[in-house]
Amino acid sequence: MWDQSVDVLVIGSGFAGLSAAIEASKAGATTIIIDKMHVPGGNSAISGGLLSAAGSPLQEQSGIYDSVSLMVADMLAAGQHLNHPNLARIVAEHSVEALLWTIEELGVQYKDRLSHLGGHSVPRTYNTRTTSGAGIIRPMLACCRKMGIPIRLATYLERFITDPQGAVEGVVVREGYVFPNAESGTEKRIRARRAIILASGGFARDVAFRTIQNPMLSQDIQSTNHPGATAETLKAVLTIGGTPVHLSHIQLGPWSSRDEEGFGVGSMFSMLAGFPYGILVDVFTGKRFVNELADRRLLVDAMLMSGVESIAIVDQSGVREASTLDQCLKRGVVAKYDSIEALAEANHIPADSLQLTIRKYNSFVEKGVDEEYGKPISRDSAPITTPPFYSIRLISKVHYCMGGLLINEDAQVMHIQSQLPVGRLYAAGEITGGIHGASRLGGNSIVECIVFGRIAGQKAALETIRS
Ligand SMILES: Cc1cc2nc3c(=O)[nH]c(=O)nc-3n(C[C@H](O)[C@H](O)[C@H](O)COP(=O)(O)OP(=O)(O)OC[C@H]3O[C@@H](n4cnc5c(N)ncnc54)[C@H](O)[C@@H]3O)c2cc1C
Repeated sequence: MWDQSVDVLVIGSGFAGLSAAIEASKAGATTIIIDKMHVPGGNSAISGGLLSAAGSPLQEQSGIYDSVSLMVADMLAAGQHLNHPNLARIVAEHSVEALLWTIEELGVQYKDRLSHLGGHSVPRTYNTRTTSGAGIIRPMLACCRKMGIPIRLATYLERFITDPQGAVEGVVVREGYVFPNAESGTEKRIRARRAIILASGGFARDVAFRTIQNPMLSQDIQSTNHPGATAETLKAVLTIGGTPVHLSHIQLGPWSSRDEEGFGVGSMFSMLAGFPYGILVDVFTGKRFVNELADRRLLVDAMLMSGVESIAIVDQSGVREASTLDQCLKRGVVAKYDSIEALAEANHIPADSLQLTIRKYNSFVEKGVDEEYGKPISRDSAPITTPPFYSIRLISKVHYCMGGLLINEDAQVMHIQSQLPVGRLYAAGEITGGIHGASRLGGNSIVECIVFGRIAGQKAALETIRS
């Protein structure tokens, strides 16, 4: 009946799947990873590589006080307290351990400055030297190669095979699958002697499924995700009793550029320069309209609901961390001007109003307090006065699925009727839901994928072996 048997079968080769596989294999379980695409890494490989942690070595060196409780409080505030607090706490508690694991065990290299991303009370986000998730995925893939963990690409999980007690026993896959053709490839049955770990990511690119959850997110709205971010694994788990949670909470990224497809190079420019060190302005009025370091949900609401057309403006002193600046300028995603007058004219912004807005904002930077919108002004912020000035035209794109499968603290998938774990089934990463509530903070997915991926791998390897 089975074409192959393995102790632990991992579905998906992003941060969550690779972390899980490394831990399962380290614990002595034979482990295989499958991925439906022809390249490994999913969204993880194209991500910004930003990882948030509370109480990290760089925070200590910079004299920034942080704690697990503060990180959890930030997560719950952004998540509108819909977060499952026990799961959010596990992420924060293990955040530094996950960071150090990437450095000490995988050899990931980070820049020596932290970023202050929207919705975080303090700077707590590490940036990979490559400014990309590839800076973490490549060392993870190298570690898998070294440990002899096979990654079978173009292998699509079609459905689960369960035993009479409802525990998962194996899967039917299609080998030689060509995305998105569900009929492509050849059917094979793989048995998991200990457990299956789901790490198949979110469904931001699945327009049919996402519009069932939120009809406003039609195909007219672009996404930052890789094409394979679709919902079929989630649907397959729901048919065997997985509990869905928060599926309609789908995040839009407020920092993407109007002038390129997907995440591109502009999103990181906005996150690392425009939002922390610059201002967001409505082109029709020349005025600010929001705290630029608010969490993503508040920013998107401010942009969409009030119909503003927004642009981020920053000066030369604010772009020192903008590692994608050259690419942005080359691709016409960011424009550069010698004066604020020239910037205003090119973008059809009322110049007098913009000058007034900048003067007002600069006075807040000098005082260290944003009296208008309450943006936290970091110690290294400077008034916007130094030419050249840069601008990026913004538009919101579908970015992240807060919703997914309910898991417990051991990363076991919970059954919808019994609220007991579905036997031998674990999940980690963006396929899970509930950790971030209504809105995920920047840098909190990578850390969550690693924390729960590792837990899933360790626990899966402890399951008794089926005879
Ligand atoms: C452009 C971009 C930038 C981002 N930047 C950041 C950041 O800087 N910091 C941060 O914290 N978060 C960031 N995020 C979010 C974060 O990257 C993702 O949430 C995270 O990478 C998800 O990891 P994962 O392992 O759960 O899934 P993924 O990395 O998406 O991997 C899932 C894998 O499963 C495979 N798969 C799916 N279905 C099947 C199936 N049926 N059979 C076999 N294989 C299947 C997919 O092909 C994919 O390779 C970003 C997201 C994007 C899109």
